[in-house]
Amino acid sequence: MVVTLGYAEAVDEEFGREVFPSKIGGKPRWLDPTRPLAVDRVVCDECTKPMVLLMQLYAPEDEPASAFHRTLYVFICRNGACHKTGAKRCMRVFRSQLAEDNSMYEEDAGSNDVSDDNDDDDITWALRPQVKAAPLCVVCGLAGTKGCSKCRARLYCSRDHQLADWSGGHREQCGSGKTDNAAHRRKLQRMVFPEHVIVSEEEPAQAQAEAEAFDEDSDDDGEDTEGITAEDMALVPASGERAEDSSVDVDRAFLVFQRRIQLSPDQVIRYARSAESPGPSEPLFVSDDGRPSIGADANADVPACEKCSAAREFELQIMPQMLNFLSIDSVDPASIDWGTLLIYTCPKSCGSAGYTGEVICRQNFSSQGIGEKFMRAMHGDDSGFTKQFDSLNI
Ligand SMILES: [Zn+2]
Ligand SMILES: [Zn+2]
Ligand SMILES: [Zn+2]
Ligand SMILES: [Zn+2]
Repeated sequence: MVVTLGYAEAVDEEFGREVFPSKIGGKPRWLDPTRPLAVDRVVCDECTKPMVLLMQLYAPEDEPASAFHRTLYVFICRNGACHKTGAKRCMRVFRSQLAEDNSMYEEDAGSNDVSDDNDDDDITWALRPQVKAAPLCVVCGLAGTKGCSKCRARLYCSRDHQLADWSGGHREQCGSGKTDNAAHRRKLQRMVFPEHVIVSEEEPAQAQAEAEAFDEDSDDDGEDTEGITAEDMALVPASGERAEDSSVDVDRAFLVFQRRIQLSPDQVIRYARSAESPGPSEPLFVSDDGRPSIGADANADVPACEKCSAAREFELQIMPQMLNFLSIDSVDPASIDWGTLLIYTCPKSCGSAGYTGEVICRQNFSSQGIGEKFMRAMHGDDSGFTKQFDSLNI
């Protein structure tokens, strides 16, 4: 199975002109700028505030023709406390797509005449000049359907963002004709996550091979664990009591996970759907526990597509490393956290217009201890984590 990895990079000037960006944070860039998403689709069930963009990914499909351009949008609540609940309450994912023949985009004639082969990848697209983008919320970039009641010049998705803008600086500026000052702009910027480009690269084949080899080794009858004792595996300091506790389980999925990502530790996304290897792909789970149930049953974690009844399939996952790019305080116990976010979508990319809700599931590390140590290691603060895993000699 070929997996494409996504990495976060700083935005440059050129990125501002990108029509189909893949990115973390910032405001959404809508595939159909005439129909931005309405706020009522992304209200957090916990705090009732609008969620903000976590990331968007341009993931076009050859089939059906209506998915020629295709973008996935992931929204999450900014309030860390809301993430103590189920992912479905504080996270959303939407699919938006357009056929090649559409009223929005045309081939950018001036840009690809130097190309030898007329590969689709070489075509540069541009928004048709006559396309009139819909007004957006100045805070978050969702559909701006409410105006400032005084100046009527600023638009918002919700009263919540109107209030945030008012206290953030619009109170002083309203009706004055002045543009936002730097402090006001910074406050607005902090309402959304910092923007980064997602660049992609195929996963080194070695990563898969090593993880599989390890997985098979440890899949034996349990007698032969290559000299690894429960004590070696315990991620907590082995107090007398703990060391004797033979029920300290090795979370095999976590070890496979760790093994597989160590060659590319900065990956923020794993994209697993590909035309070359049809059929459902498996996520890289971070734990043996908490795997989502998939089924036709509407109560399954991953139910069938509500539109066409096809069983949803795994498409991509968001890695814990993405948390490093969100400027959130990972030490705060109420901060946003995950082991991995798994995104399941309709394999037929059914429907054409609007925003089709898909499914996002969160899997946590099996123990808080593993997650924290893992994140610290990712932050470059080793604190014995890597050494501990090296010593396992796996
Ligand atoms: Zn919330
Ligand atoms: Zn808004
Ligand atoms: Zn105003
Ligand atoms: Zn469907």
